[in-house]
Amino acid sequence: MKIDIHIHSTISPCSKLTLDEIINYSQACGLDGVCITDHNTMEVQNLLQEGMQPNGLCIIFGVEYFTSDGDFLLFGPFDKVLPGLSATEVLRWIDSIGGVAIAAHPFRHGRPTQESLIADGMCRIVESRNGRNSDSENALLNKWRSIYSIHEVGGSDAHSLEELGKVITLFNEPVRSRQELITALKKGDYSPK
Ligand SMILES: [Zn+2]
Ligand SMILES: [Zn+2]
Repeated sequence: MKIDIHIHSTISPCSKLTLDEIINYSQACGLDGVCITDHNTMEVQNLLQEGMQPNGLCIIFGVEYFTSDGDFLLFGPFDKVLPGLSATEVLRWIDSIGGVAIAAHPFRHGRPTQESLIADGMCRIVESRNGRNSDSENALLNKWRSIYSIHEVGGSDAHSLEELGKVITLFNEPVRSRQELITALKKGDYSPK
């Protein structure tokens, strides 16, 4: 299944991609599923039904959480996230509730992931291909690939319809719900495309 795991709707002030566009155009962009990961909020759950849509598109909710040690895509059994947690605090919390964290755009200039979090095994999944990173920023992941045991995903980080589905994660098993996504992410049978 082709899933864009990193998308911002207009709930994020920086995005102009509407929920209607996500629902209506994702499949035309070649996607079977999308994860709506607005900045620090799960507001989307008040506006949309999560899971399989009538048109066959799978929509999953998560957040992109800002910390001073990097941004993290979080998926788990939660309705909201406490603001202002450190990276260590948020990673411990998501693990304790059975969720999963992905280091978003780990080598983005100005917003990199603190390497010690990867070295210490606090975060085992990295977004090695991010649609808004430059190719050279994405290529820096080669440094980690050889030293750390990490799983890799791809996400567009779309803030507009033109960006939707430009980078995806190819899952080798069906993902039809948030829980199936979490289980699949922990297992590691996927790759960025
Ligand atoms: Zn944004
Ligand atoms: Zn983002």
